[in-house]
Amino acid sequence: MALLVVGSVAYDALESPYGKVDRTLGGAATYFAVAARFFTPVSLVAIVGDDFSEKDEAVFRSRAIDIEGLERAPGKCFFWAGRYSENLNDRVTLTTDLNVFAEFKPRLPEKYRSSKYVFLANIAPDLQRDVLHQVKGKPKLAAMDTMNYWIERSNAELRETLKHVDILMINDSETRQLSSEHNLLRAARSIFKMGPSTLVVKRGEYGAMLVDKHGVFCVPAFPLEEPHDPTGAGDSFAGGFMGYLAGSGGSNDAALRRAMVYGSVMGSFAVEKFGLERLLHLKKSEIHARARHFSKLTQFKL
Ligand code: AMP
Repeated sequence: MALLVVGSVAYDALESPYGKVDRTLGGAATYFAVAARFFTPVSLVAIVGDDFSEKDEAVFRSRAIDIEGLERAPGKCFFWAGRYSENLNDRVTLTTDLNVFAEFKPRLPEKYRSSKYVFLANIAPDLQRDVLHQVKGKPKLAAMDTMNYWIERSNAELRETLKHVDILMINDSETRQLSSEHNLLRAARSIFKMGPSTLVVKRGEYGAMLVDKHGVFCVPAFPLEEPHDPTGAGDSFAGGFMGYLAGSGGSNDAALRRAMVYGSVMGSFAVEKFGLERLLHLKKSEIHARARHFSKLTQFKL
């Protein structure tokens, strides 16, 4: 089933101990769409400026990612620059230039409005809600991401948006900040009162944890000897997770568990090389092989 994503399509400048790129295609919706497209058709809603190149547009077109909802506006694309520490766990944002993103008012093409699976990547919570309102009826599954910026500056808007989604996918520090609880299980209980019935906590090199009414399910991060660049790992995780669910049409407990594994698989590929590079050269067979590897990694007898 088609999966709708709204979020940033950007140019990124990235620096890690493994190298540096000055300008490369990035953005949360880009990582999400490229990762999810391995599992299901994807429709994208985002905005770019007149500096958005044909070569980068071809990244979407060549994968048959639907970009009818990719608006073009006079001005420059969203630009983000970040630098990672020696152990790749800490990141400083060097630049965030909103550019055309500052005026973004997402408009869904008619054919997107019947989407049953929706992912609201990290953008202003009122825009996330606006997208959800443009979808006809109730989607089978609506999930969203957010970040400390919105938790701090648009808390009331964020809480209003949370009332309308099924799954919240955020990292551990954001989970603690949003819930004012340090313990993640207590945090989940507090977040369920805000609206979502499922919480997925992304924990970087420590994997990810899903909490819902059935209990808790954890996946490790795939052990890599030489991760190069964590940019987009969370969005690729979300793409693998939602892509798997939309592609299989499922949302029950067993499907959610497999989705966690495919999320972790896609996140692990994203960090292997700089920017999108690894995802752009990935084969489906490699995804399934790594998922099987995950199953071996976590099997044991009692
Ligand atoms: P992640 O590593 O999962 O946090 O995602 C990194 C991607 O998010 C980069 O490609 C950036 O272009 C994009 N990004 C960074 N800051 C923002 C922001 N404030 N709003 C939307 N997208 C952002």
